Amino acid sequence: MPQKPVLIIGAGISGLSIAYELQKRDIPYQVLEAAGHSGGVIQSFNKEGFELDAGPNTIAATPETMAFLQEIGLEQEILPAAAASKNRFLVRNNRLHAVSPHPFKIMGSDYISRGSKWRLFTERFRKPAPVQEEETVTHFVERRFNKEIADYLFDPILSGIYAGNPDQMSIAAVLPALPRWEREYGSVTKGLMKEKGVMAGRKIISLAGGNQTLTRRLQEKLQTPVRFHCTVKNIAVSAVGGYQVIAEEQGGETVLEADRIILTTPAYTAGRQLEGLDESLAALLQQVYYPRMGVLHLGFDATALPQPLEGFGFLVPHAEKLHFLGAICNSAIFPHKAPDGKLLLTVFTGGSRQEHYFDELGTAQLQETVVKEIRSLLGLKAAPVMQHFSFMQKAIPQLNIGHAKLRSAVAAMEHNYPGILLRSNFVQGVALPALIQHAASLADKLKKN
Ligand SMILES: Cc1cc2nc3c(=O)[nH]c(=O)nc-3n(C[C@H](O)[C@H](O)[C@H](O)COP(=O)(O)OP(=O)(O)OC[C@H]3O[C@@H](n4cnc5c(N)ncnc54)[C@H](O)[C@@H]3O)c2cc1C
Repeated sequence: MPQKPVLIIGAGISGLSIAYELQKRDIPYQVLEAAGHSGGVIQSFNKEGFELDAGPNTIAATPETMAFLQEIGLEQEILPAAAASKNRFLVRNNRLHAVSPHPFKIMGSDYISRGSKWRLFTERFRKPAPVQEEETVTHFVERRFNKEIADYLFDPILSGIYAGNPDQMSIAAVLPALPRWEREYGSVTKGLMKEKGVMAGRKIISLAGGNQTLTRRLQEKLQTPVRFHCTVKNIAVSAVGGYQVIAEEQGGETVLEADRIILTTPAYTAGRQLEGLDESLAALLQQVYYPRMGVLHLGFDATALPQPLEGFGFLVPHAEKLHFLGAICNSAIFPHKAPDGKLLLTVFTGGSRQEHYFDELGTAQLQETVVKEIRSLLGLKAAPVMQHFSFMQKAIPQLNIGHAKLRSAVAAMEHNYPGILLRSNFVQGVALPALIQHAASLADKLKKN
């Protein structure tokens, strides 16, 4: 009997890369996507000659990712970041501090107090006291270092990755190396010394045409076309063995039979889809917090900036009480992204700690406030010549306390319902390279079974 296709729910980077890897291994598949296009949160567009990305702006150039991009024929589209991208800034007292978040490099800067430098330096002599239960980032960092280091180093780093709140995020989920170093070496800084490579500045890239070029190319590569406008409602055990996927398609209900189903939908959707099979997992999935985010693209005349901004961008600690989380200086690292003589900044707003500004100010006033703050911070002498705001109602999953319980519940469901796999970014990690790499190892596993 011919093998039933593996049903993959969602045509974001996770779903498309899994489909592509299955195709390479001659495993039949079918991608079901609710929207009329692929990419999920990866959405690129062009406005007045500026190339804008509302989702991921940069991709870490891991060797595996670079090989994958070459394999799918995107080598010509790869835009390596300018050397300036290694310069990173943190904001304190309305000033950009050129500091690397690397704890040892920070010793030479005036970004943090002497007391905090001392806490960093002496951390290796502090007794390890690993906590058994899940620990928040703030609790861990204050225990090993101090509050200033939590507020001025770890808070902006987690804003930059998750738009997250370190008071709620699980250190084991978001920065797993740190508790491991404490366990294995007795100290975070000792672990860092031993495993220097972990913090080595990784090269970054973007793609010509925006990062959606990646998902568009993957979609083109699939010999089985993605089934768009197909919204999966739920999954049930089939009376004839295997499972049934019940979807809404062209105004009617479609029922698809499958032995293997891979969900790459966000947790809140996966929760609804699995309600009939595992009520308690469904409840946990629906509790995963996805804060609202706004992405504000600002184009300026280059002459508006008193001196060139040579760096990747800047992150703002929450304690600074500005109305945005940070910004990427796209045109400084990828000159191709802005027309000649123009600058492009991508500013991130909202997230766990700042989504209340959407209610308090509304998006128009929030944008006005952010533009004022950015102009003051950078000394920009003129108003933006291009402005575009994208709003995301549910942007990025927060791996908060409780994540370990969620992962165990996912593993239990996968054990109880063999063939159903949950493979979205709240399980695999949010970064594109991790999702791409995971697709290949998952396909290998499915090939063997
Ligand atoms: C603002 C922002 C900035 C980011 N920046 C970076 C960055 O610089 N670098 C980086 O590596 N990562 C970044 N990320 C993270 C990264 O973009 C995401 O983790 C990744 O794109 C998620 O891909 P996915 O396929 O797992 O999920 P998604 O992109 O969410 O795809 C899920 C798909 O499922 C579909 N779907 C939903 N419900 C149904 C249903 N009922 N039936 C069928 N289909 C359905 C959706 O329409 C969607 O297409 C960023 C994320 C955000 C939000």
